[in-house]
Amino acid sequence: MNDIIYMDNHATTPIAPEVLDAMLPYLTNHFGNASSTHPFGVYAKDGVDKARHQVANLLGCSPEEIIFTSGATESDNLAIMGAAYAYKDKGNHIITSTVEHHAVLDACHALDKKGFETTYLSVDKYGMVSPDDVEAAITPKTILMSFMYANNEVGTINPIQDIAKIASKHGVLFHSDAVQGIGKLESKMEVLGLDMASITAHKIYGPKGIGALYIKDGIQLDPLFYGGGQEKSVRPGTLNVSGIVGLGAACESCQTAMELKTEEKVVGPLRDTLYQKLASELTDIHLNGHPENRLLGNLNLCFAGVQSHALLAGLKSVAVSTGSACDSESVTASHVLVAMGIPNELAVTAVRFGLGRYNTDGEVDTVANEVIQTVNRLRVLAEE
Ligand SMILES: *Cc1c(COP(=O)(O)O)cnc(C)c1O
Repeated sequence: MNDIIYMDNHATTPIAPEVLDAMLPYLTNHFGNASSTHPFGVYAKDGVDKARHQVANLLGCSPEEIIFTSGATESDNLAIMGAAYAYKDKGNHIITSTVEHHAVLDACHALDKKGFETTYLSVDKYGMVSPDDVEAAITPKTILMSFMYANNEVGTINPIQDIAKIASKHGVLFHSDAVQGIGKLESKMEVLGLDMASITAHKIYGPKGIGALYIKDGIQLDPLFYGGGQEKSVRPGTLNVSGIVGLGAACESCQTAMELKTEEKVVGPLRDTLYQKLASELTDIHLNGHPENRLLGNLNLCFAGVQSHALLAGLKSVAVSTGSACDSESVTASHVLVAMGIPNELAVTAVRFGLGRYNTDGEVDTVANEVIQTVNRLRVLAEE
């Protein structure tokens, strides 16, 4: 495994050393239940409190506005289902887009079966939502809209602030699956204008199975689970203390990285070098996603004539993903690429390179060479 180069940072990221260091005491000596009143519990609760402040610092919000969850899938479900049921007396209409993560799409589909009505807005050829389309879709019954900050497949960044202005003008709640944007792009909730935002630790160099939902003060959500009174009863259950501490440390680490401009100075240039090398040696490759308004670590490319699964099987020393990590076993084209109008036969050749803060120049060289050789070899084979 150690000789395989990891370039799949949109699927998950390695745990940063400083994050692991912060977590370890809570997996060993400090194992207390944060609800206990004895010193074991107090120590655990202190860890949780510190983490809540770290998350709130990154998001520029109050610690009271953070609810810990098991990850972004749960945060998305809690935000969408929780708001739909809590505000159902005001209306039953929801607006989202066709390129959302399945956690959002499937939550909306489930609500559609329970008497809600969702409008799934189409996107432009870069995968971007148009604020005008959003405004045109609002009806007197609209209670909620959900648009992702940055797309996990093609990296395209949505005009969140413009959409937020429209949402606020019409008194509609605005949730964003902000997983891929927070910690890399503008992360302050007040600047973005969001009412709710989902984040997850494992996309920002923290552990898996822990996330948070930002819920702006004053917004009520129906819970998905019932039980103890933890997290204001919005998300009851014994707190995942080590995970929460890891999420807090990951948020602090991202804040430092943002101050150091790690994405702009390290990740972006590596991604651009990789693209330049591939584009200078290979014909008929297509860049998916917005050419500029895109996550700096994202490079989603179609290699015409070469099925992505064949290419991945041929790449021995690099871990990348076909269009979408969640369905890397199936050959159906990604719903995102299809929504962007990319023809099916091209969409099934898409490979997503997700670069991160630990990639190096040497790795980019190795990956570029291996991709070039493998694509050329597979194209020759296809002609024979
Ligand atoms: C990874 C991801 C999720 C799911 O997060 P989990 O914590 O794994 O449940 C949701 N939305 C986006 C955009 C993601 O990239």
